[in-house]
Amino acid sequence: MIPVSEPDLGPLEREYLLDAFDSGWISSRGHYVVRAEKQLEFLTGASYASVCSNGTTALHLALLAGGISRGDEVIIPSLTYVATINAVYYVDAVPVIVDVLDSTWCIDPAAVEAAITPRTTAILAVDLYGQTANYIALRQIADRHGLLLIADAAESLGASLNGTPAGALADISTFSFFGNKVVTSGEGGAVTTERADFHARIQQLRNQGNHATQRYFHEVVGFNYRMTNVAAAILTAQLERAEELIAHRRRVVDDYVRLLGPDTRLRAQQVSMGAVPTPWMFSVRIAGASSIERDGIIDALATQGIESRPVFPLIQDMPFVPVNQRTSTPVAEQISREGISLPTYPRLTSDDIATVCTAVRGALPPTSPVG
Ligand SMILES: *Cc1c(COP(=O)(O)O)cnc(C)c1O
Repeated sequence: MIPVSEPDLGPLEREYLLDAFDSGWISSRGHYVVRAEKQLEFLTGASYASVCSNGTTALHLALLAGGISRGDEVIIPSLTYVATINAVYYVDAVPVIVDVLDSTWCIDPAAVEAAITPRTTAILAVDLYGQTANYIALRQIADRHGLLLIADAAESLGASLNGTPAGALADISTFSFFGNKVVTSGEGGAVTTERADFHARIQQLRNQGNHATQRYFHEVVGFNYRMTNVAAAILTAQLERAEELIAHRRRVVDDYVRLLGPDTRLRAQQVSMGAVPTPWMFSVRIAGASSIERDGIIDALATQGIESRPVFPLIQDMPFVPVNQRTSTPVAEQISREGISLPTYPRLTSDDIATVCTAVRGALPPTSPVG
């Protein structure tokens, strides 16, 4: 069985994990929490990083720190993981769901601009499958309209745009360290920012609204969104190995591009000018496929012991989204219908990739004769 994802945990993770365990500091106090944050600041170039319990609580903290509250409109892309919209609902804000670009699959800046109303307070972009959104255009729009720019960078640790790493491309950025992400702590997340005031609020809110110095004095209603020192030990090792882990994933994606790129029945996610995507999960579109045909290919791969995934369904199709928030997003709809994610992880061998590619090509519908 070739799984779609598998963490790469080695001797360093084991060493730090046992060190945290043996120290007795297994809750959220302990030096690995601080070490992971320092390492994250180093990797992203962000001034401040705060680790937290997962990527969803990271999004919640980002919206709270940014002052997003009841009735505010937050513009999000229709193609993303459910956590993005959930966080908007946590703060009683209104998600305004817009379309994505056919090229990068990330939020369409023109659609963002068209969706702005007097109630809009933030743009929450998502770096889909490791590709950064167009933060150059989004920054201009945000500045022109006085909006907060937040990046859901859960899938893009290690990516960059014009040399600026993910984590330093928006006012506030969030990461996830779930088991299938570029680096993992089992469950975990982080928030990065350039702004000291946002950072202070994030630190306070993740820890029950605690006063910085006065014990058991809580200034605001806070949360327990802390990361344990045990998880932070694994995370520290993963972040110290990030360059190596990303290089191995990049080899996997390069192999896929080389073997599947020439096939005209497939369309890969395009890399925009100045962007270096992080090789998170190699995803392609089966040009013109219906979702039934796409699911047929997933089934065909499964019979050959290869796990694959459909690209995310549209966020507005979730039953909990009110009817008046269900905008029409035709580009995202097509990508979602045609898209498939293939196994991508550091230890995937070249032989495995060749096996996957042969199986994919064999399962594709034959090219229709040109007449
Ligand atoms: C994984 C992911 C999240 C949520 O992360 P968790 O750690 O699972 O809570 C949020 N947004 C996107 C785009 C993701 O891929």
